[in-house]
Amino acid sequence: MKVTQRDARSSRLRALPAYLFEDLVRLRHDTEARGMDVIDLSIGDPDLGAPQAVVEALRKYAGDPRLHCYTPQWVINKFNEAAAAWMKRRFGVSLDPAGEIFPLIGTKEGLAHLPLAVLDPGDTALVPDPGYPVYSRGVWFAGGRVEWMRLAGERGFLPDLGALKAKTVKLVFVNYPNNPTSAVATPDFYGSLVEWARQANAFVASDAAYSEVAFDGHTSASILSLPGAKDLAIEFHSFSKTFNMAGWRVGFAAGQADLIGSLRALKSNIDSNVFGPVLMASMAALDEGWPSLASTLEEYGVRRSLICRCLEECGIEYHRSPATLYVWARVPGRMKSIEFARVLLERAGLLVAPGVGFGEGGEGYFRISITCPTSRVKAAGERLHEVAKLWKE
Ligand code: PMP
Repeated sequence: MKVTQRDARSSRLRALPAYLFEDLVRLRHDTEARGMDVIDLSIGDPDLGAPQAVVEALRKYAGDPRLHCYTPQWVINKFNEAAAAWMKRRFGVSLDPAGEIFPLIGTKEGLAHLPLAVLDPGDTALVPDPGYPVYSRGVWFAGGRVEWMRLAGERGFLPDLGALKAKTVKLVFVNYPNNPTSAVATPDFYGSLVEWARQANAFVASDAAYSEVAFDGHTSASILSLPGAKDLAIEFHSFSKTFNMAGWRVGFAAGQADLIGSLRALKSNIDSNVFGPVLMASMAALDEGWPSLASTLEEYGVRRSLICRCLEECGIEYHRSPATLYVWARVPGRMKSIEFARVLLERAGLLVAPGVGFGEGGEGYFRISITCPTSRVKAAGERLHEVAKLWKE
């Protein structure tokens, strides 16, 4: 009997551009296999470890058999209350823990699922370019149409709301402090966005994963603190960057009750919530994790200064920002960003993220992450100085 070969990937999956970080991991392994030491500055994966109070809480609750079943409702309720209390303390935003907050298995999961919960096939979503790739993937998986929203350096990497062309938009993604550009948004920007969305009858998804990663006294705002925002916006908060908990897979969505309800309904068909002890430990992070964040930021600050100084000495322009785990820099000379990343890897064993991996709007830039140990950042600086002779000559 003849066996027909079937493609295991759906047309939806085949249509996607390659995921940048998979290619980077391959490139890194190939280079290491050739015997070169690679310093990985490409991915924002916090390296400094979760707060001690969080680790202890996990230890304690991991031993509690009441939490070994599917996540009990009382744990979800407690988590929602702790998250709502933090939103109030931190941003002055009042939220109903029962209807306006919901835990996520990391914000990536929530951001990817939101379009499936909110969009019908053919609906349009505005997505930042350059941007975190998950927004566009989620929209495409849901059969939605992506309309790119260019983030240009001249505008501080904020979208030009007046220039948006789409006539009917159902969902707008924004992300400040921004990955990859490191740009920050002012409350005024959020105010204009809320007004724009109200007139366009659109929902806003604001990804605030980096809201607590700030330097030099900067404090990020929440879109939900703007008048009218709670009628149309959902905001995403992550424990990954704030508390060095990327592997724990925990975050939450907060905001407009219908959006939260829709995401919750979708997810009830797909997953069974975050492991109870992880939710209990995340509450310990919200209550007791702040001293640990302060020391984490101090360490990041040292790395950030080292990188910025080195870029200046090497004649490379970068966006000066008070937030995120990234430095967004201009590719020197006429090289494309991928070509430049290859030169850095092959000549100096430095792995950076080429800007085009975040969309066409990222061409001409590259992103350096500060989640690499300080001694390695120093070594990276020395290597960059060496390789800079190539474009300085
Ligand atoms: N949003 C942005 C902008 C990110 O850069 C990331 C992770 N790199 C996430 C969300 C996802 O974070 P997590 O799923 O770990 O909460």
